Amino acid sequence: MNAPRVLVRVEPVFATDALFGGPDGYRLWVTTGPDDRNYGDRQPWTWDQAARVQGWDIGRMYADEHGEGFWLERTTRVPALGCVITTRARPSFARHAFRVARCRVASLHCAGECTHDTELLNAISHACPGPEGANEERVPVRWMQVPEMTPQPTGRIRFGVEVRPMTVQVTATEDTRCQMARLTLTGSGWTAERVRAAGEALRAHLADRAN
Ligand SMILES: [Zn+2]
Ligand SMILES: [Zn+2]
Repeated sequence: MNAPRVLVRVEPVFATDALFGGPDGYRLWVTTGPDDRNYGDRQPWTWDQAARVQGWDIGRMYADEHGEGFWLERTTRVPALGCVITTRARPSFARHAFRVARCRVASLHCAGECTHDTELLNAISHACPGPEGANEERVPVRWMQVPEMTPQPTGRIRFGVEVRPMTVQVTATEDTRCQMARLTLTGSGWTAERVRAAGEALRAHLADRAN
C-alpha cells in the first residue's frame, strides 16, 4: 500500500439460512477510494488484520450507495513498512538514509545538529517509492515540474527543488543563506507527487523550530 490513505469497505456476511438478526461476520476490502469497485478478486481482511496493520490510523467513517466503510490514513508515528531509516551523526552534520528493498532512495543531510523530530523521517519514508521504483535509474521528473514540486515558504524557511541529471534535490534554507537541510532523491519511483510529499514533510516538521 503506497498511498496516503485507502478506503476500507466493510461488507457484512450473512449465513445463507439466517434471514433475521445481525450479520455473522464481516469482510473488509481495501480499496484505493470510492471509485475502486473491482476489489472482489482481492483477498479480504478480517477486523483483526485491520486492527494490527502498522503505520496506519483508522480515520473517518464512509458511506455511499454501495455500503459503508472507513478511511485508513498514514501515520507519521511510525516509518513506512518496507523502508529502513539509518542515521549517522557527525559533529558538523547528520545524514539520514532511506532504503527500500536495500536500495537507497533518499538521503537527508542536516547541517549542524538535527532540529527535527523522528516524525520528519517517518513522513519522508511515507513519500518514498515502493520496491518497484527503488533502483539506480534517473528520477523521471522534469524541470518544468519544479513549481508544482516546491513547497511554500513557512516562517523564515524557504524551499528549493533542483532537478539534476540523475537525482532531485529539495533544500530548506533559513533566512536566505543558512542551509538547514538537503534531501536527495534517487530512483525511478519518484514522481512529482512523491517529491512534493517529501518536500511537504520537510515543511511540516522543520517548521517546528522557527515557530
Ligand atoms: Zn537530521
Ligand atoms: Zn514535527
